Amino acid sequence: MKKLFFLSMLVYLAAGIAPKSFPAADLILINGKVLTMDARNTVTSSVVIVGSWIRYTGDDAGAMKFNDGNAAVIDLKGRTVIPGLHDAHIHFESGADQISNRLDLRFMDKEQILKKIKMAVEISPPNALIKAYNYNHAYFKDKKFPDRYDLDKVAPDNPVIITRVDGHSIWVNSKTLSFAGITKSTPDPPGGELLRYEDGSPSGILKENAENLVKDVTGPDMVIPGASAENRILQGIRYANRLGLTSVTTQGSLRLMKELNEMEKAGVLTLRFNLWITPGEMRKCVTEGIKFRDGSDKVRISFVKIFADGSLGSVSAAFFKPYRNNPATSGILIHPVEELDRLISDAHMNGFQTGVHAIGNRGVHLVLNAVEKAQKKFGQKGLRHRIEHTQFITDDDLVRFIELKMIPSMQPTHCTTDLLVVEERIGKERAAQGYRWNSFREKGVMPAFGTDWPVEPLDPRRGLYSSIERKNIENGKPEGGWFPGEQISLYDAVKYYTLGAAYASFNETGIGSVEAGKIADLTVFDADIEAITVKEKRAILDIPVHSLIFDGKVLDIRGK
Ligand SMILES: [Zn+2]
Repeated sequence: MKKLFFLSMLVYLAAGIAPKSFPAADLILINGKVLTMDARNTVTSSVVIVGSWIRYTGDDAGAMKFNDGNAAVIDLKGRTVIPGLHDAHIHFESGADQISNRLDLRFMDKEQILKKIKMAVEISPPNALIKAYNYNHAYFKDKKFPDRYDLDKVAPDNPVIITRVDGHSIWVNSKTLSFAGITKSTPDPPGGELLRYEDGSPSGILKENAENLVKDVTGPDMVIPGASAENRILQGIRYANRLGLTSVTTQGSLRLMKELNEMEKAGVLTLRFNLWITPGEMRKCVTEGIKFRDGSDKVRISFVKIFADGSLGSVSAAFFKPYRNNPATSGILIHPVEELDRLISDAHMNGFQTGVHAIGNRGVHLVLNAVEKAQKKFGQKGLRHRIEHTQFITDDDLVRFIELKMIPSMQPTHCTTDLLVVEERIGKERAAQGYRWNSFREKGVMPAFGTDWPVEPLDPRRGLYSSIERKNIENGKPEGGWFPGEQISLYDAVKYYTLGAAYASFNETGIGSVEAGKIADLTVFDADIEAITVKEKRAILDIPVHSLIFDGKVLDIRGK
């Protein structure tokens, strides 16, 4: 009976017809393009939120029936709404450490940046070197490169060096130029360029190798505005939110869990955490009676992390055959096979999902074998074991993900960074069996997407772009994409970054799609991302996150 009711609800909702009773909405989003990620891949225009929950998705007229006059109504003007982005593999604390030690100017316009620099100058010792990061003149009103005189206004006596978001140029003030002895007569170094005024004097933008001209400029340490006011975990959370993330699956620990629980109690946690743990910590959990997925809807114990092999970059990922550039090795197994089997079997027996790092095709093969053995011994137990990275995989092993009900956890930017070296390392034949998103899709296997931050930047747009184009982000090559048969649609890329990540962390009944009955975690992009990428796929890299809704509330992601 309950099921029948549920089905008829689905029919209502699919048809965009509201049910007969209309609870008063708190928030209504209309006139958007909502990529729901539901079973029918529905695209619709509005979302109704009551408390923390999505109550309705469908057309605007249906949505407005929930408005008793008190709802906040947001006209999205065609912007894209997707489920809150969920990075399925990061190292949160290492990433947070990195950003909390920096003055981060991401997404700021010129006035905001100058204000920040002014604050840093005011609170730092005299002559301190002011270093800041991630400015992007795409966010400036005039969209033009700034110059040294802009900075001189707020920092006449301190050297200032600001790195552009892509790291390919820096913006400095007159003090930095004079400390470095850069004048009109300084030539462009090989592989570098100084932007200049008509009279030849440097404007304050130094590109590529010209950045080295100021590398010896030093001064007392600066003081970062706001750095002491907030702990690094909170800074990491805000950073993730600004990039459109509402959930992460991350390296964790029982200690981090306690810290996050405190923040949850204090009501400041605006990111959902799935924390992976070591086999040693799992033992501790078993002893203390803590189970897999114990926690709240915001902080949970997740899988047990185990390592099978190394990495391609270090020539230690385990392959069946030797490396092409180093025939003496075919990679490294972190544990002997029996030990790998035992670690996976132990977690499985105790009801814990595993996430096993495996990059080479032999590493992946051995993990599949180990899971198969554990399942033969103890049954499937409903555990969705994951392979972290799953970069190279044979055709025979690909289909085993279906039989064993396993999940490939993959990082699209690893592909577009690695593609520069893969063929040189392992040759074309094996390269063709790498980063196989579309092959998994065709077999009906849903990968979970992420970044491995801080190994790669946390920005999900880079992953989305990599998925649809398979070109190196920095050099835009190769033409047509690298093994373009593995490119996927933007819709699917978003799906693996939301529903795929939710499924991989057993959260798919609560989050991962925009459907009535799920928690209202939503990411809004400042454009119709599908329409824009039809014209120019790279455009996705520059579309700002317009707003973020977490647990039914609109977050302030523009603040500090
Ligand atoms: Zn990692």
